[in-house]
Amino acid sequence: LFVDAPLGDGAAVALERAQAHYLFTVMRLGQGDAVALFNGRDGEWRAVATEAGRKGGALRCAALLRPQAEGPDLDLIFAPIKKARTDFIAEKACEMGARRLIPCLTRFTNAERVNVERLRAHAVEAAEQCEILSVPQVLAPAPLAALLDAWEAGRRLMVCDEARDAPPAMDALRAAGREAGSGPGPWAVLIGPEGGFAPEERARLSEAPFVTRVSLGPRVLRADTAAVAALALWQAALGD
Ligand code: SAM
Repeated sequence: LFVDAPLGDGAAVALERAQAHYLFTVMRLGQGDAVALFNGRDGEWRAVATEAGRKGGALRCAALLRPQAEGPDLDLIFAPIKKARTDFIAEKACEMGARRLIPCLTRFTNAERVNVERLRAHAVEAAEQCEILSVPQVLAPAPLAALLDAWEAGRRLMVCDEARDAPPAMDALRAAGREAGSGPGPWAVLIGPEGGFAPEERARLSEAPFVTRVSLGPRVLRADTAAVAALALWQAALGD
């Protein structure tokens, strides 16, 4: 169960109403029963229910089950699409080990409003289901140009481009990994909107020294499929 509270030996955790309902009504747990907790920072803890009410409750951490493992420093930057498909991206990006999700606004982005809390909830649910201890941070949407202007030194950007002349992702990523030497270092994956990148965006991306342009294969994929395929290829080429 994900909780937004510090975890540690003997730490007490107060439960929200929905969490208490899930544990004590849906799962039929009671006082003294054990629950595995994580918060995305402090590892996974075995906690024991000390109060089991209908509207609330409390748990106390008893033993560390798994320490927090640091995954790769991998961001997913994506142009938001329809709500349900953006939810899918948040869920799958968590499963594929992205550390931060960054919605980005491009000229052809057709969904400019993004519910950051909703995306975070989808990522939390995916982490709970897949027993992943890290939940990606979801950032507020930002224009692509602003993200590129403020680019962090040393972070590489895998730009997914459906144009026929882009090199296959696996080859391009492995070559970039060899150049970087030991460990992949910080990376980001960029997926464009349903309408693709505008000419001026392509030009800006092709000039950026930190960009590795890649193809995900000969078929044009929907943006949500492309996000999953790109993260899987990055993990296969450079992940651990
Ligand atoms: N330009 C297109 C159009 O309007 O038909 C397609 C855009 S595609 C639906 C959305 C995004 O997915 C693209 O901007 C790109 O980042 C990524 N993408 C889809 N297929 C890809 C492929 N075969 N290789 C690399 N990237 C791909």
